[in-house]
Amino acid sequence: MNSQIAITLLGTGGGRFATITQKRRTAGIRIISEGLNMHLDPGPGALIYSIREGLNPQKLSAVFVSHCHPDHYTDAEVLIEAMTKGTTKKRGVLVASKSVLHGNELGFDPVISRYHQQMPERVVEALPNTKFQVGNINVLVTEARHTDPDTVGFRFETLEFGDFAYSSDTEYFEGIGKYYEGVRLLVLCVMRPAGKPWKGHMTTNDAIKIIEEAHPEQAVLTHFGMQMIFKGPTREAKLVEEETGVPTIAAADGMQIRFAETVDVQKSRKAQQGINKFF
Ligand SMILES: [Zn+2]
Ligand SMILES: [Zn+2]
Repeated sequence: MNSQIAITLLGTGGGRFATITQKRRTAGIRIISEGLNMHLDPGPGALIYSIREGLNPQKLSAVFVSHCHPDHYTDAEVLIEAMTKGTTKKRGVLVASKSVLHGNELGFDPVISRYHQQMPERVVEALPNTKFQVGNINVLVTEARHTDPDTVGFRFETLEFGDFAYSSDTEYFEGIGKYYEGVRLLVLCVMRPAGKPWKGHMTTNDAIKIIEEAHPEQAVLTHFGMQMIFKGPTREAKLVEEETGVPTIAAADGMQIRFAETVDVQKSRKAQQGINKFF
């Protein structure tokens, strides 16, 4: 069998200012395997860049939303409409944090309407340390510590090729490395460069600690905030690689990762490196 998992970083920007300026796209991550077509954290631009990169949103079978911030959720409803063939078919799965589905006491309202929550065939409330299956992938919901306290990350376990994971927005905390121990590919949301800590968010220094604990085969930094963009994510990735010895790259908009017997990174022909010139 020659199946593989194709991971497309449709967006690599994160945080308010990267989002409102679109210095980097905020379209989230598309993950396509033989049995699954999943969009992870569809922020502003997810619908547009899916179509632009030739990834038909009507083929989606899962939409994952890690928390209640706009750079992660804004396009979730339109993608659910695409997944359900314009709401004519009850299909697919929606996986979302408690805050995304129900809101929470911190003032976050549900960000996917009850109407849209009824459209998928299945809705999974992603609570830390729970497990469920989508397609042929087992998903472990990992803990995150962020300004939306219900934020979660995801560890995807495949039978054929081992595991890959996505941290979502989180700060470093004791035990975070355990969640990602032994994954082959670790995608970290590194909002801030080294030496610029911000509560609830990850810096390059934090990424180094997590990678040292988890020892992935390949690390990918993404979800860059303004300070990170201006500092230069490629330089920060190099720093991580030098410190940890783990191959580490800074994601670029449109970058594709082929996850199979090996983990290969290709920059898309359509990708624009660095500044998003579309706007
Ligand atoms: Zn974010
Ligand atoms: Zn956030």
